[in-house]
Amino acid sequence: MMATTHAAVGLLLALPLTVLAPELAPAAALAAMIGGIFPDLDLVAGIHRRTLHFPDYYWLGAVPALAAAALAPGTATVAAAWFLLSAAVHSVSDVFGAGTEARPWERTSAEAVYLHSRSRWIAPRYWVRYDGAPEDYLLTVCLLAPGLVTFGPTVRRVALALIAVGGAYTLVRKHLPAVEERLL
Ligand SMILES: [Zn+2]
Repeated sequence: MMATTHAAVGLLLALPLTVLAPELAPAAALAAMIGGIFPDLDLVAGIHRRTLHFPDYYWLGAVPALAAAALAPGTATVAAAWFLLSAAVHSVSDVFGAGTEARPWERTSAEAVYLHSRSRWIAPRYWVRYDGAPEDYLLTVCLLAPGLVTFGPTVRRVALALIAVGGAYTLVRKHLPAVEERLL
């Protein structure tokens, strides 16, 4: 799945806070969207879906952080908890996409995400055929929709930007490997 879909999942994860703790909901939403994108920074530095992807270990941070946020609700505790929760969910959900190869629609890679605790890769499930597939964009839009109508202007602006970026990425996705090869 593409980064905008992971950010959209993050926004959805922050939605309950609009009822439970409305004053903290925007901080949770922004932190969750950043946490949803964060693991994919290993595209630019490190090994993609391994260096910053922890389908297992993020939970060791997320669960205590959520407990801390419940015991001492504040901007910092809530932001940290939702950042880690969103990064954890991102790392797990990459299993349901494709492998790490440049042209994931060719299905040549059996590496969806690295499970550090077992020192091995998990194979892709292809529920979303590849990042930037039309169904991936549909997920971005549908998962952002509830937050888009519930949150205030700041979060809404970020959500609209994600919809635009996700749409552009989806349009050019299949041309990217050729562009990359020409540049490198
Ligand atoms: Zn990822």
